[in-house]
Amino acid sequence: MAAEQKFVIAIDGHSSCGKSTLAKALAKHFSYVYIDSGAMYRAVTLFAIQNNCFRPEGLSEECLLRALDEIDISFDKNKSGIQTILNGNNVEDEIRQIEVSSKVSFVSKVREVRQKLVSLQRKMSKDGGIVMDGRDIGTVVFPQADFKLFMTAKPDVRAQRRFDEMIEKGVKVNYEEILQNVKDRDFLDENREESPLCKAEDAIVLDNSYLSRQEQLDWVINQIEKRMLGHEN
Ligand code: C5P
Repeated sequence: MAAEQKFVIAIDGHSSCGKSTLAKALAKHFSYVYIDSGAMYRAVTLFAIQNNCFRPEGLSEECLLRALDEIDISFDKNKSGIQTILNGNNVEDEIRQIEVSSKVSFVSKVREVRQKLVSLQRKMSKDGGIVMDGRDIGTVVFPQADFKLFMTAKPDVRAQRRFDEMIEKGVKVNYEEILQNVKDRDFLDENREESPLCKAEDAIVLDNSYLSRQEQLDWVINQIEKRMLGHEN
C-alpha cells in the first residue's frame, strides 16, 4: 500500500469473535495504528466499579456522570503489547476480568459515556492510518470509513475461544458463565437505544466460526486490496 494512503478501517461485530486479534494483525500488515474501542468502555466500567457507582439495584448513572470528567483514558505500548491506561494506571488485565465483562453493557448504553468516548476515538484517529474495532465504528464513529467489516461467529464457538484464552492465562473460569455473558452482551448491545450494534449498510460480513486466524487475515487483506486499491488477487 502506498505510504501516502492513510485509510480508516472500521471493524464491528459481536462479542468475543476475534475482532481485536484480526484488527491487530491488519494494523501490523498495513503499518497502521490499532485502537481497541471496547477497552475504553471497559476502562470506564472499571472506574465505575472502583468508585462504587454499581449499587445493589444496578448502575447509578448519576454517580458515573458526576465523575465522568475525571476519567482519562489512553493507550501505551510495552513489550506485552498495547496497554490500556486509566488515570495513569495500567489496567489492561483488570478490564478483561469477568466482573468488568458482566457490567460493561450497562455503562456502554449511557449516552454521555458514548459521547465522551466517540469524541476521544475521533481525536485519536485524526491522522488516519488506523484500524479501530468495536460496535459502532462503521455506523457512528466513522460512517465515512474507507473499509468496513462486520464480524460474527456462533455463540458457542465464541464462548469456547474466550474460555480457552482465559484458561491459558491461568484464570479460573466457567464455560457456562462465559457463554451466558456472550449471549447477554449480544442482546444488550443489539437492543440498546444509543448506537446499538448493527451492521453498517456498506460493511462486508465475515462469519469466522470455522476459519483460522490466518485464513481470516488473508481473506480480509484480499478484500481490502480489491476494494480500496483496485487489485485483483
Ligand atoms: O470489544 P469488547 O468486547 O471488549 O467490548 C466490551 C463492551 O463495550 C461491549 O460489550 C459493548 O457493550 C461496549 N462497546 C460499545 N461500543 C464500542 C465498543 C465496545 O458499546 N465501540
